[in-house]
Amino acid sequence: MDKYSDRLNRLSYSQTFVMSNKVREMRAEGIDVIGLTLGEPDFDIPQNIKQAAFDAINQNHSHYSPVPGFLDLREAICRKLKIDNHLDYKPNQIIVSNGAKQSISNILFAIINEGDEVILPTPYWVSYHEMVKMVGGKSVFIKTSIDTEFKMTVEQLEAAITPKTKALLYSSPCNPSGSYYTREELEAIANLIAKHPHITVISDEIYEYLNYEGEHTSIAEFPQIYEQTAVINGMSKAYAMTGWRIGYCAAPTWLASACDKIQGQITSGANTMAQKASIVGLDAGKKHYQSMIDSFQKRRDLIYDLMKEIIGFKLNKPKSAFYIFPDISYYIGKILKGKEIKNSDDFAMFLLDEARVACVGGVSFGDPNCIRFSYASSENDIIEAVKRIQSALANL
Ligand code: PMP
Ligand code: GLU
Repeated sequence: MDKYSDRLNRLSYSQTFVMSNKVREMRAEGIDVIGLTLGEPDFDIPQNIKQAAFDAINQNHSHYSPVPGFLDLREAICRKLKIDNHLDYKPNQIIVSNGAKQSISNILFAIINEGDEVILPTPYWVSYHEMVKMVGGKSVFIKTSIDTEFKMTVEQLEAAITPKTKALLYSSPCNPSGSYYTREELEAIANLIAKHPHITVISDEIYEYLNYEGEHTSIAEFPQIYEQTAVINGMSKAYAMTGWRIGYCAAPTWLASACDKIQGQITSGANTMAQKASIVGLDAGKKHYQSMIDSFQKRRDLIYDLMKEIIGFKLNKPKSAFYIFPDISYYIGKILKGKEIKNSDDFAMFLLDEARVACVGGVSFGDPNCIRFSYASSENDIIEAVKRIQSALANL
């Protein structure tokens, strides 16, 4: 008998962490490598948020919190959703988790049966497909490309829906493409989904504040699908709190209470100090993070201007999040330094070996033609990385 479960055997490692661990190991060996792998802000947590965590320790917030999170945090989340997104939620519709990652997996555990289909527009964030596999579901992919800014059309979505479709899962702003869906596009999607009450929309909006071109719209704003929609958000990206592990889901009560039940058996409530600090972070509002957002926009402009000059890189200017996702199919099928480049993961390994620049290949994002660079890094690293890539490709 196999000592591992089928569930484990069908799972892949998270490529974002595989590549960032490689960077760590290479650095430990004294190799000078530039890491543009992980999507994590390089800024420190703002001082007022840190202070709130110290205060929480001193006030002895050291016991279990309620499974869905402290009431005052859930109230703060409701205020944020009202102010930023014009959304009405009550605290019993909010579940705070150990990162948005857990918020998404709670929902999948709560609604997916063996063989149920989850629609994933490609490219998708690495963990979506793996989470679907973990709960026994089947991912149904909608292929997009750089020519449509990596966005699905309503027609494609309609064609992908079957009687077995249980959920639509996507991020807008999107990791890894940096695109976002406009209000008009989301309204058209909402109108279609409303005709299929068996479908739950899992709308991952964790990069909401990092939109450099337009307005963020939450699909839950369309009343025709409010009862079918879960909004995912969290403290990792705009608040620079990745390690503090606070994410949340806002959902209709039928779904929120299901997530509460799941979480109560798996992890209980999230870390209490981080929860108390998140209240301060949320109440400060978007303007408090504007300088970080402005820096990301500046880096976006920089990396785009530099990368578009690299031979064989086809790219669009990402409008949001902090990733750029060049199509490198020009190199696929070529032999570079004696190695055949069969897909973008091979190309990412080539860049690591020859340019000492780490990125993440697109295969685990469902797009074997593209590679992802995170520009949540210093301007110097961005400039140096592009120089190194150019010289590695020039020496072929
Ligand atoms: N969704 C997307 C699109 C992400 O890029 C990430 C990466 N952090 C997450 C969810 C998970 O975030 P968290 O740190 O809150 O688990
Ligand atoms: N979401 C980030 C990324 O895509 C962090 C890593 C992860 O959670 O997978 O790089």
